[in-house]
Amino acid sequence: MLKAELHVHSTYSDGRDRVERIVDVALERGLNVIAITDHDTIQGSLSAIDYVRDEHLEIEAIPALEISTSNGHLLAFFLEDEVESGMSLIETVDAVKKKGGISIISHPFQIERRGVFKPSLFSYADGIEVFNAKYIFGISNLLAERMAKRLGKAGIAGSDAHSANEVGYGITTFHGDLRRAIEEGKTGIMPKKIPLKTQFSYFFKRRF
Ligand SMILES: [Zn+2]
Ligand SMILES: [Zn+2]
Repeated sequence: MLKAELHVHSTYSDGRDRVERIVDVALERGLNVIAITDHDTIQGSLSAIDYVRDEHLEIEAIPALEISTSNGHLLAFFLEDEVESGMSLIETVDAVKKKGGISIISHPFQIERRGVFKPSLFSYADGIEVFNAKYIFGISNLLAERMAKRLGKAGIAGSDAHSANEVGYGITTFHGDLRRAIEEGKTGIMPKKIPLKTQFSYFFKRRF
């Protein structure tokens, strides 16, 4: 079984730590895949890919970002190029697809964090983040999981880490190829809540 961290912010957006430090921690914590998902820029993930290649590290970094759509946040993976922010979710999913990528709705139902909440939009994405490691009560995660099951979509987990020490809480598990596992709805999750003390130590500085 392989493990992926698919939701981390670096200094390329509102994260506290540099890409190199995040990749090092991901390696220390035994992860096989890392996606740096900065707000509206693919640059963090590309710099992780360069770092892994230059240092010959035993981890796979994939191109990714978290796009601010007019309907809420959307994670995009495996795309060749950036997709602009501010479009509707449907338009954004389409643009991601045209650039060879796949889309996952991040922290759904968390309105205060700009999560998508309109039920009719969920069927457009390739998957749903059913466990976001940053929460107080976890009701949104339960609703997200129910939605993924009902629509037969892949469920992924994400730490939504804004510092390296938050990496590895929301882990997505898979066998073989990650992209195929998501497309076939065959991903699993290893959910672990980020302690509230850690969550709130950076709460007021980040954009979620
Ligand atoms: Zn995020
Ligand atoms: Zn977000």
